[in-house]
Amino acid sequence: LSDSVQVLHNGVKIPAVGLGVYKIEGNGVYDAVTSALKLGYRHIDTAAFYENEEGVGRAIQNSGIAREDIFITTKVWNDQQGYENTLKAFDESLSKLGLDYVDLYLVHWPVPGKYKETWKALEEIYRSGKAKAIGVSNFLPHHLDDLMESAEIKPMINQIELHPQLSQLETRAYCHKHDIIVEAWAPLGKASYFNHPTLQELAAKYEKTPAQIIVRWDYQHGIVTIPKSTKAERQKENADIFDFELSAEDMKAMDEINENKRMGYHPDEFP
Ligand code: NAD
Repeated sequence: LSDSVQVLHNGVKIPAVGLGVYKIEGNGVYDAVTSALKLGYRHIDTAAFYENEEGVGRAIQNSGIAREDIFITTKVWNDQQGYENTLKAFDESLSKLGLDYVDLYLVHWPVPGKYKETWKALEEIYRSGKAKAIGVSNFLPHHLDDLMESAEIKPMINQIELHPQLSQLETRAYCHKHDIIVEAWAPLGKASYFNHPTLQELAAKYEKTPAQIIVRWDYQHGIVTIPKSTKAERQKENADIFDFELSAEDMKAMDEINENKRMGYHPDEFP
């Protein structure tokens, strides 16, 4: 699990499969991260917005695993964007996590009129060494074009909603061309269409679960993926994808599930 990585354009390695912890509250997040680390996960995706950075940090500290062996992502929330606010928000996140650096810091959404100033702060944080990599989330090609007009450092990652029904071909092609690694949020489509006939068929064929077929599809496409689960057995299942390979034909069948169907906000319509 920890050996399967993607390499960002600055040379930093990110484990290809991580644990998402969106909305896991209270002690739940401590338990979920502790269990994932025991199972071999070495990549945790949190955000200031999730209000659980403290629990994530405690689980890391108590794990006994060396800090440099764990990849931690957090994100600046929309109401904290802008240059000065972001610098402050970053320090707050670090302090809640109890860390002296994060591996990846992301702009959570492209807040109009703000994200370019926010990016300046991320560049400064990156130069200080307190974030080993920086990136964006929910950016469409037009946001990236706009950002890159004034950026000195190109984002290393774009984390976007991506699952079989929303395969994001356009944004993926753009990111590929610009050496930006794509990371999938809600990779399992929030487990809402595991009964899809293609997923059922491939699960039976490979003797895997629909969740494993999806995580494997991400992996074979070079997409970093962060399925969320609080349950140890599901965490284990979601990461157990390195002992089989989807054929080219089955990858194509997976690609054909796409309906450009979002579960979350369109980035241009975020309230
Ligand atoms: P997901 O697609 O990972 O689905 C999670 C849900 O699927 C869980 O709540 C669980 O009930 C179920 N599940 C997980 N594994 C399962 C299994 N093996 N079998 C059956 N059911 C299973 O959705 P998500 O949590 O929204 O997204 C993953 C992560 O992406 C989040 O936790 C968060 O870290 C990140 N995220 C980022 C953004 C963003 O704007 N950048 C937005 C949403 C989520």
